[in-house]
Amino acid sequence: MGARVRPRLAASAGYRLHRLLASNAVFRGFARWVERRPRAYSWFAEGERVAKEALFGCRMCGQCALPVTGYTCPMTCPKRLRNGPCGGVSPAGMCEVEPELRCVWVVAFERAEAAGRRADLDRLHRPVDHRQRGRSSWVNYWRGRDAHLWSEPAATRPPLGIGVGDGR
Ligand code: SF4
Repeated sequence: MGARVRPRLAASAGYRLHRLLASNAVFRGFARWVERRPRAYSWFAEGERVAKEALFGCRMCGQCALPVTGYTCPMTCPKRLRNGPCGGVSPAGMCEVEPELRCVWVVAFERAEAAGRRADLDRLHRPVDHRQRGRSSWVNYWRGRDAHLWSEPAATRPPLGIGVGDGR
């Protein structure tokens, strides 16, 4: 596992990059082509790993959540939580497992909010498919395998403090 890395690329730059890499016929054709060539695929996946590990601490889960987490990798959470923080985050926003680190989800919230994308954090993520570990998330995206990685945005946000289990 690589060293823990906080995002080094501004979230706004990440959203711009995502638009550049948006699925189109050329990228889909490339993804089909490269998947049929194991050596080319391994080079491409390695390039993705090097770039995204340096920028986001990527762990190559193969199912990239960055576009809806303020470009903060949830797999850098020591518990690998994909749906928000655990109950152990400190009042100062620090991780309970590695107390010198800010909680990944606090960082995600700050970055998404600064970019006007706070509603992204209301989305629910499906469980990680570990069979995709080490695979290129870009190729998976262009091949359409990311179609239902997360839910649509919540239509409404429940008022703070009112929800299931609040004793009412
Ligand atoms: S591919 Fe997975 S591990 Fe890599 S940055 Fe995206 S969410 Fe994180």
